[in-house]
Amino acid sequence: MRCAEVRERLRAEKPGEATRAHLEGCPRCRRWWAAEQVSEGRLATALQSVPAPPSLLGRVLAAVVHPPAQPIVDLGDRLLISATGMGLTAIHLVPEGTLPPVVAGPGRRWIERAAAELREYLAGERAFFDVPADLRALPIFSRRVLEMTARIPFGDVRTYAEVALAIGAPRASRAVGNALGSNPVPLVIPCHRVIRGDGTTGGYGLGPALKDRLLALEASVSPLVGRASTGVVCRLGCDRPGPIPEGDRIHFARLADARAAGFRPCSLCRPHAARPLSLGTRA
Ligand SMILES: [Zn+2]
Ligand SMILES: [Zn+2]
Repeated sequence: MRCAEVRERLRAEKPGEATRAHLEGCPRCRRWWAAEQVSEGRLATALQSVPAPPSLLGRVLAAVVHPPAQPIVDLGDRLLISATGMGLTAIHLVPEGTLPPVVAGPGRRWIERAAAELREYLAGERAFFDVPADLRALPIFSRRVLEMTARIPFGDVRTYAEVALAIGAPRASRAVGNALGSNPVPLVIPCHRVIRGDGTTGGYGLGPALKDRLLALEASVSPLVGRASTGVVCRLGCDRPGPIPEGDRIHFARLADARAAGFRPCSLCRPHAARPLSLGTRA
């Protein structure tokens, strides 16, 4: 069965076995169909009228969600960012209206890039940071804790004990908490994703209320975005796809869902690879 015929049948909501078999083997048609459902805003009815195999398309479309329309966390112009030529060294929250202008210097490009990435992140438009951190001034234990914390994916959480275990210091939960409490680059190194074993969120250098809001933001944003016409799925915030027109854009919660819908991972932002923050300590 040809693609055009398959799409006609899907449009007519008369899929049949041959159509489903074609979809299983044709990523182009899977992408087309997923984009079609999203652009017409009829995911729920589509799922009822086209009984897709639960292993594949039903699951894909169930996972497709729209991004939030409004910025969720508004910190205004309150993030004071410092950097060396190697990367970020500090992020502070300062009172509104007290932010000094960025001055020339070796860290300027990192400061400007971090400011832009943070703005996107807080608006629910970015799920990763590309700007490096320079942690050379920190004790080795703190660096290990922060490096491990930088690997916790957007939207995910770990406990202090889990981070302690992951760095090979299972009895050092309290020391892990202290190291995270003095994280010099909060947000970019996501210490807000480390919570207490009893499920409460615990302390946060920028204030516990902000920690809760960041976790809520991440829980409501799909970290992956696909462009149906190219078949490439990116981490939210990747520069490569440029602005994706409505109708060509599909959000995914998980890479497995994007793959099932016929998308392949971007080679620039590499959503298929664990992405540790690049740290100045390594250079
Ligand atoms: Zn096809
Ligand atoms: Zn990308």
